[in-house]
Amino acid sequence: MDLIYRSTRNDNETATASQAILKGLANNSGLFVPTEIPKLDVGIDELVRMNYQETAYAVMKQFFTDFTEEELKYCIEHAYDDKFDTPDIVPIIKAGEAYHMQLFHGSTIAFKDMALSILPYLLVTAAKKNNVKNEIVILTATSGDTGKAALAGFADVPGTKIIVFYPKDGVSPIQEKQMVTQKGDNTYVVGIKGNFDDAQTGVKKMFSDVELAKEMDAAGYQFSSANSINIGRLVPQIVYYVYSYAKLVSNNVVSKGTAMNVVVPTGNFGNILAAYYAKQMGIPIKTFICASNENKVLFDFFQTGTYDKNREFILTSSPSMDILISSNLERLIYKIAGDDAEKCAELMKALSEDGKYTITDEMKKNLNDFVGVYTTEEDTAKAIKRMYNDIGYVMDTHTAVAAQGYYQYIEKTDDRTPTVIASTASPYKFTRSVMNAIDPAYDSKTDFELVDELSKISRTPVPKAIEEIRTAPVLHDTVCEKDQMLAEVKKILGI
Ligand SMILES: *Cc1c(COP(=O)(O)O)cnc(C)c1O
Repeated sequence: MDLIYRSTRNDNETATASQAILKGLANNSGLFVPTEIPKLDVGIDELVRMNYQETAYAVMKQFFTDFTEEELKYCIEHAYDDKFDTPDIVPIIKAGEAYHMQLFHGSTIAFKDMALSILPYLLVTAAKKNNVKNEIVILTATSGDTGKAALAGFADVPGTKIIVFYPKDGVSPIQEKQMVTQKGDNTYVVGIKGNFDDAQTGVKKMFSDVELAKEMDAAGYQFSSANSINIGRLVPQIVYYVYSYAKLVSNNVVSKGTAMNVVVPTGNFGNILAAYYAKQMGIPIKTFICASNENKVLFDFFQTGTYDKNREFILTSSPSMDILISSNLERLIYKIAGDDAEKCAELMKALSEDGKYTITDEMKKNLNDFVGVYTTEEDTAKAIKRMYNDIGYVMDTHTAVAAQGYYQYIEKTDDRTPTVIASTASPYKFTRSVMNAIDPAYDSKTDFELVDELSKISRTPVPKAIEEIRTAPVLHDTVCEKDQMLAEVKKILGI
C-alpha cells in the first residue's frame, strides 16, 4: 500500500509521494507530511555494510512508495555520482570532541547539494508517473546559495529548464560568479535591479498567474519549485543521519542500539527535521541540538514555547542561517500537536497575522529531545580560530556556530554521548570570514588570494567548484528591471 501524505493544515488534502513532490506546497500554504513516518526495514548490521547510495535506497523506498525500485535507483545513481569529490559522498571526520559529518562534497560545496542533486530526477520521474507531458520549468529567486545548488542540480537534466533570478547587487562576488558561469543549455540566470524580496515577490506572482499558466501549458511548459519545503528535498536529508549512525557503529564509537546526539546549524529547520525523522525511522538519537546564530528565534522558542519573529533581522557571517521564519518547523509543530491539522493551521495563522504563536504545555512536553543553543559572531570567529590552533582543522562559519553551540552544551550538561555535528559548508565557500577569524591581517587580500592561503594553512586542495570559477567564462549576463521579470521569462520560453 502506498504511503499517503497530507497537508499540515488540512486533513482532507492528500497526495501520493510523487504528487507531493510535483506540487511542492499543499494548498493554503500547508506542507505535505507522511501520515505515518515509516520505519526502516533493514537492521543495523545491514546498514553497516551499505555504501551511501544503498543507504539512500533503504531510506527513500520507505517514503517514496509509488516509485519503482528501478526508478528510485536510477535517481540515486545519477544524483550521488562523481559530482561528489569523494566516493564516500559524506565523510565523517573526528574534529575535537565531536564527529563532523561533511555535507559539502557536492558540486556547490554546501549541504543543499545533498538534496538538490536528486530532486531534479525525482521531479522528472514524478512528472512521468502522473502523465505530465509538459516540460518542467523551475523558477527560483535566490539570495545566493540555493540558486547555484539548484542550477547545478538541474543543469542538462532532460525534460527541465531552470530560471534563477538574483538581486544584481545583493550577492557576494563569489556567489555571483558561481551562478553566471553555470553551464547547461537549459539554465538561465537573470540579475534584477532590486533586492532579494523583489526577486521573491516577482517569482511568487508568476507562480500564481493563471493566465501565464495557460499560455505556458499551450506551449508545453509548466512551473515547479525546488524550494526547501518540498518533501523531495526533505527525505534525501534523512539518509545522512542513518549513514553516519551506521559509520559510528562500524567504527565502534557507539555500540549497536546505543544513542548518538546530533548538532545542526539551523535556518529553515529542514536539516534538523530530517534528523528527527531519522529517529522516528528507528535510528537511536538522544538529543537534537539546534544551533542558531544571532538570529536566535529558534533558541528562544525551545526555551519558552513562544515563536516570535518580531525582532531585528541581523546580517551575520553565517548568512544561510539568517532566517526569522523557519518554514519546516511547521512539520514539527504538526507532529507535537498530535498530527492535529486544525491546531497547526491556527498557530500558523497567528504567525502570519501577529508574527508569533505559543504552543501548549502538552506540545512542549513532546519537545524534550530538542535543545536550542546559539552563538554570537564573536564566539563563532573564536571557535574557528581555536579549532585551527588546536588541531589544524578549518571549519566554515555555519559549522562553527554548531561546534561552539555543542561546546556550550557539554559545558552545561556534561553529556558525553557521542555526537555528530552537521558540517554544512566548505570553508572555501566563506573564505573571507573564515580567514579573518584565524587572523584579521588576511583581510587585505583578494578573494582568490585567500583561497590559496586557506589551501596552504589547511593542507587541503582547492575544491573543483572554486577552481572552476577562477577562470570560467561568464555565460549569463542578462540584467532586468524588477518589473520586467515576467517579460524575461516569456522571452526565455519563447511565448
Ligand atoms: C541552508 C543552510 C543551513 C540551514 O539549513 P536548514 O535546513 O535551512 O536549517 C545551514 N548551513 C548552510 C551552509 C546552509 O546552506
